[in-house]
Amino acid sequence: MTEANADPLLPPRRKSRRIRLGNVEIGGGAPVTVQSMTTTKTADVDATLAQVYALAGAGADIVRITCNDEDAAAALAHIVPRAPVPIVADIHFQYRLALAALVAGVPGLRLNPGNIRKPEHIKAVAAEARDRGVPIRIGVNAGSLDKDLMDKYGDATPEALVESAEKEIGYLNDVGFDDIKISVKASNVPLMVAAYRLLASRCDYPLHLGVTEAGPPPAGIVKSTAGIGTLLMEGIGDTIRYSLTADPVEEARAGRTLVEALGLREREGLDLIACPSCGRAEVNVIHVAEAAQEALRERDIPLQVAVMGCVVNGPGEARSADIGIAAGNGRGHLFIKGRVVRVVPEADMVEALVEEAERLVAEGADARIAAADADAADAAAELRADRLAHDVDPNASQLREDAARSTAHGDDATTG
Ligand code: SF4
Repeated sequence: MTEANADPLLPPRRKSRRIRLGNVEIGGGAPVTVQSMTTTKTADVDATLAQVYALAGAGADIVRITCNDEDAAAALAHIVPRAPVPIVADIHFQYRLALAALVAGVPGLRLNPGNIRKPEHIKAVAAEARDRGVPIRIGVNAGSLDKDLMDKYGDATPEALVESAEKEIGYLNDVGFDDIKISVKASNVPLMVAAYRLLASRCDYPLHLGVTEAGPPPAGIVKSTAGIGTLLMEGIGDTIRYSLTADPVEEARAGRTLVEALGLREREGLDLIACPSCGRAEVNVIHVAEAAQEALRERDIPLQVAVMGCVVNGPGEARSADIGIAAGNGRGHLFIKGRVVRVVPEADMVEALVEEAERLVAEGADARIAAADADAADAAAELRADRLAHDVDPNASQLREDAARSTAHGDDATTG
């Protein structure tokens, strides 16, 4: 079953039931949420909270924290009430730590079926979670699949991953617990995609997507985007996590960027677009884009900002951006919605871009276009005309035209 998407270009989303994690809803048509996980020692309450705040600031709607010992469980009692987003306790092996995390007040649990094996232990956790109204993620992982399933299937196949999840669902359902979301992660992208497709066809629980152990960027981001993005574009998936070997802030940013790029979430922060640069560029686009990104992010500018290497194509190609800058002749040409409003020395490009972006946010596009320097657009147009006049080679074009005509007439000896 599917349900309509607000954007007609997006596929219908798989219809899933809705669960609630603290004040965040997952599934049932709720916006796709972004998750990440802390890397601090959980027992270090201040360091963990600082990272939770950093992740929330970078776009995470939900943060997972390991609950790997008694001190971690005790720390969760202090972290959960001060966290800006719901916290999920990550549990492996020891079911008592799941019970302790529930007592500490976590609004969500993640259990790995491959690591907590005894049904009575799983059911004890589910009964406690049921009584407290706390949802559980069944987090199946291809790398830690139940040995029985490995023996049965010979490998971590999509069927094995889904059967592991279904077995766990059975245990939870046995105690009347149905507040479930599921993940079937693998580091192999085709396996992960196939497993989620199979799972999506067999239940209506909300799904948490991820490519596990994706590794460091950029490969980790590419693999995660391939797997998560493929499924999201099929309408599958209710919440996502990038598992990167990097500062987890990168995970949150990547996840947020993906859901915004796919049109599944409204843009909240900066969207920096930049041309890839080419032989026509009149500035080091990479350096300018990096400097602009850093300065604009620091100020939390919620605009689409373009950095373009030349004035020939820059303002036109980036006309959909709220604001941008294009280089040329040792100057930066600031444009708003494709209209050049100021020309500044190249050395001041980034500073001028940030200043104009702040004014744009405060005053709006119409006011800033009305305040444009009278000569800026003409100066840009003149430079563009000059660059075009000099980089066209009429002689080469004429030679190609002559060759094309003689080929059409059959003059070429090879066509004989
Ligand atoms: S905007 Fe200019 S410099 Fe950048 S890729 Fe396009 S033509 Fe090249």
